[in-house]
Amino acid sequence: MDQPYRLIFMGPQGSGKGTQAQCVSRTLHIPSFSMGQLLRDEVARQSPIGQQVAPLLNAGELVPASLAVEVLRSRLSASDAQNGFILDGFPRNQEQYDAFQFMVPTHVVVLELSDAAATERLSRRLTCNQCGQIYSMDDRQEGDACSCGGRLIHRKDDRAEAISRRLEIYHQKTKPIIESYDKQGLVHRVSAQGSVQEVHDRIIAALGLRPGSSACPI
Ligand code: AMP
Repeated sequence: MDQPYRLIFMGPQGSGKGTQAQCVSRTLHIPSFSMGQLLRDEVARQSPIGQQVAPLLNAGELVPASLAVEVLRSRLSASDAQNGFILDGFPRNQEQYDAFQFMVPTHVVVLELSDAAATERLSRRLTCNQCGQIYSMDDRQEGDACSCGGRLIHRKDDRAEAISRRLEIYHQKTKPIIESYDKQGLVHRVSAQGSVQEVHDRIIAALGLRPGSSACPI
């Protein structure tokens, strides 16, 4: 492939975009970043943008496109993103899709999962409050330490009411964007069911790379 990978990962919340983005990032040696984590970083830093978006994040509502684009442009201009990147959680609606025309992806990987499975996963999900690493309540509990020194929390928006709102936004606003990318021949649909390794193998195969032979390095 002669041009850098510019990958967008899409799919409902809980489909494993963040985890898979980290795996593929290590396999391809390109950075991955999620819009949600970039925004949570702003909140943690208590930046002017962070202060504006904090209540929206807690409620599971989308933040204004202009603010999301500002945060994203800044991340994409960093030197480590010049040879490719994986972006997850953006664009999520038509306004963001239009605002993102300055960057055409090489592939849009869509992780497919039912709402019931997504809800079940999210309600058991723990997130490191420092690095954003994802864990499950199957083997960890709230308050445990992350390997980075951070603490595992059950995000406010991973609770029942916010989850259904976030999935509703996905169906209403994000799916039409996937159709737009599909018309450009960029979409690769992958089942998000199964183990992290199984999903990773499917993504690697969908990208036309060493199908079935790449161990997910996380
Ligand atoms: P996520 O970590 O992807 O579940 O996102 C967490 C929260 O960040 C969302 O519920 C929104 O409040 C905000 N957010 C993430 N991505 C976007 C986006 N593309 N546009 C607007 N808000 C976003």
